[in-house]
Amino acid sequence: MAIISSSLNESESSRPQKGLRIVGSENLPEDRENKQPLFNRPKNLAEFIGHDELKTSLKIAIDASLYRKECLEHVLFYGQPGLGKTTLALLIANEMNTTCKVTNASLLERPRDIVGLLLGLKQNEILFIDEIHRLNKLTQEILYSAMEDFRLDLTAGANKGTRSRTIYIKRFTLVGATTKLASISNPMRDRFGICQKIELYTSKDLQEIIFYYSAFLGIKIEKGAGTLLAKSSRGTPRIALRLLKRTRDFAQVIRNTNTISIEIVQSALNYQKIDDKGLDQTDRKYLDFLFRNNNSPMGLEAIAAALGEDSSMLEFVVEPYLLQLGFVLRTPRGRKLSSLGEKYFNELQKNI
Ligand code: ADP
Repeated sequence: MAIISSSLNESESSRPQKGLRIVGSENLPEDRENKQPLFNRPKNLAEFIGHDELKTSLKIAIDASLYRKECLEHVLFYGQPGLGKTTLALLIANEMNTTCKVTNASLLERPRDIVGLLLGLKQNEILFIDEIHRLNKLTQEILYSAMEDFRLDLTAGANKGTRSRTIYIKRFTLVGATTKLASISNPMRDRFGICQKIELYTSKDLQEIIFYYSAFLGIKIEKGAGTLLAKSSRGTPRIALRLLKRTRDFAQVIRNTNTISIEIVQSALNYQKIDDKGLDQTDRKYLDFLFRNNNSPMGLEAIAAALGEDSSMLEFVVEPYLLQLGFVLRTPRGRKLSSLGEKYFNELQKNI
């Protein structure tokens, strides 16, 4: 994996910056789970499964930029983890025939981190910043003029010796990804010409994703097995992939086969304590807590404290899917189990 420097100082320019990756079509990112090259990540928008409207509007914007020989406007993707935000940033770079520099806002602590990165960008290159809501105020302010006018206003020295200098940088496209749109300041949000929400996937799309990856993993999957895996994937491709890999392990090691049947999926899910709706122990603990307190709606922090979980994890990983299933209601007074959630929970109790 190529790593580049983003340092301001010329003499430091050969020193690699931690966590920064350049990704081009010849240099694909790693599978985060296995740290192996992910040869099968979609390489163009046509291979990206689902979200047709989003792909069409991106394709129009990309083709228009290519036609005008301009760089693409800045793009902001928001949605839960694992829905394809990073993948889309890499696809945009491929479609624009350029490379993508990948970093995370938590690595851009000091002004020189972002300045060095911006100075190192090539014409029309994509800069992908994951978790962009975590950028500190100073870094955001540097980005404002860079995004709008491709300009850096730098100051050096202190008190009387302060000097300011303007440096123009190459035109680039910033692709930001966030799970917390509300935490992004308005001036930052306004600088993105394209702002797209990535929704949870339908079971049909997840099934297609499962078949797409099973071919690369060298396993056969029966139709019903693909459907069950898709239904258990919480609307999220990353979870679909993880369940597929764990089911493959189960099939190969316990059943000595390369063909995944519906029965193998059921056994592999049972083994991982995941039910056919994709709910795991954390979801059940959450529902159980609401069930026991259902006469008084509960605040997120109270639930997190009672379960010993991180409130952000509950808000961005656990709750969206339970809300989508209609099991949980968000009322002005707090979270509450819906009648559907109560029914599910009663069934669960009967089966224990
Ligand atoms: P995010 O950046 O939103 O957390 P990623 O882009 O890392 O999500 O996607 C997680 C995994 O799911 C990756 O392996 C990616 O290739 C796969 N994936 C996500 N969306 C799709 C899709 N629409 N089609 C095919 N694979 C997808």
